[in-house]
Amino acid sequence: MKVMEHLYVYLWDDPRENNCNSIFIDGKTPVLIDPGHLDKVNLLFDRMKDDGVEPERIKAVICTHAHPDHFEGTLAFKDSAVRIGISKREEQFIEEEARPMYAQHGIAMPDYRVDFYLKEGELHLGRHELQVLETPGHSPGGICLYWPRHGVLISGDLVFSRGVGRVDLPGGDGAALKSSLNRLAGLRVELLIPGHGPAIPGAERVRGNFDFVKAAYLTL
Ligand SMILES: [Zn+2]
Repeated sequence: MKVMEHLYVYLWDDPRENNCNSIFIDGKTPVLIDPGHLDKVNLLFDRMKDDGVEPERIKAVICTHAHPDHFEGTLAFKDSAVRIGISKREEQFIEEEARPMYAQHGIAMPDYRVDFYLKEGELHLGRHELQVLETPGHSPGGICLYWPRHGVLISGDLVFSRGVGRVDLPGGDGAALKSSLNRLAGLRVELLIPGHGPAIPGAERVRGNFDFVKAAYLTL
């Protein structure tokens, strides 16, 4: 669904359709953020086409973190010129934590590809100026994307509507999640787009959500 000029948000509430929310930012460098599960990418493409966006236009794919429900869909772009980006720490996490886990279960690690690394600081997508925020906690190399001009925060699995991401998975860190959350709560956010569940529009509602999750989770 197109939520404003250049910004399309695909929220899923039926896990049979897809799992994580996907975001498409149009412009000179059209970018897809968190493509979801590999076998669900076609359903995402269908929704994009319904909005008049041809998926062939995607030039880059960015993942907030490497959990399969966000990252696996990058495999759909494996044999294309689409450039795939994730943080370096998160790639290290795949190699150190995920690869042995796959091996333990006798499953071949998917043959993924990373073309560029996201790191703390500015990220220019065509004429759009975004910021990469390194926000460990749910995953060691997890990032959020902040678009200051529009007050848009793409928070991956760090913070949701009335919840925060799990910290009990490999690489999860409760203390890191708290400081990442405090950092995000200091931003001017007009639209919060989490990795799962509903988006939160409006600065006041976003503020209320940060207050709620901080009271519920930071005092534990
Ligand atoms: Zn996750």
